[in-house]
Amino acid sequence: AAAVQPNLATVGLTKSFGGVTAVDGATVTFQHGKVNALIGPNGSGKTTFFNCVTGMIKPDAGTATYRGRDITGKASHRVARTGIGRSFQLCRVFPRMTVMENMLVAVRSTSLRRQLASARDPQELDRARGLLARVGIDHLEHSEARDLSYGQQKLLELAGVLMADPETIMLDEPAGGVNPALIDRIANLVRDLNAEGKTFIVVEHNMDLVMSLSDHVVVFDRGRQICEGPPSVVQNDPRVLEAYLGI
Ligand code: ADP
Repeated sequence: AAAVQPNLATVGLTKSFGGVTAVDGATVTFQHGKVNALIGPNGSGKTTFFNCVTGMIKPDAGTATYRGRDITGKASHRVARTGIGRSFQLCRVFPRMTVMENMLVAVRSTSLRRQLASARDPQELDRARGLLARVGIDHLEHSEARDLSYGQQKLLELAGVLMADPETIMLDEPAGGVNPALIDRIANLVRDLNAEGKTFIVVEHNMDLVMSLSDHVVVFDRGRQICEGPPSVVQNDPRVLEAYLGI
């Protein structure tokens, strides 16, 4: 087998909010070209970790690299430019915009002028339609996002992430609050996109999904990695059970 190539990696990443250390010296390496999962009990720092590496918030200490390039503390649009796209735990779409309008503004740019220009580009419209078809909501193109089911909004968010053609996709609880049929669709999309070469880093509470989808699982407890490995190994690690049971 070929040697594992690092994708996103952190060393000693740390972030506190007042007295709470949400991420506490996290040293983690995700694998390039794979489906990686980041799991851990509620409050173990997973979302804060995502926010620190995607430029939503600045870490207090430690470093983050993406494929060997330093991205520590970089603003989110600069992180995006390195090839990382992400979704949010509480789905982020514009509720009063149509599905297509959401697609056309999905690629956030620092320049409003550039963003408006790309929104008027007919090629972008075609690409948006293709991606909406791919996630199975092209028939809703003209609907306002708020009229979609929560699962459909998550599919819209994922399609929006794909507009930037990211090499790596970070998903924060893609199956949370989504009905089982749409969970299957999301899982199949992740598998297909991974087969096409995209790396995934997924925070997810649905353990069946995590174990069936992932190549590599990183387990967080209290803001740092306590265990990593393939699903079969992580599943049977007593430290993981302990973390979840809060012993
Ligand atoms: P997870 O995603 O694993 O559930 P979080 O990263 O959301 O964990 O939270 C980790 C810890 O940091 C929790 O104790 C949470 O209450 C705290 N925390 C997260 N964000 C903030 C914030 N903006 N202000 C204060 N505390 C926060």
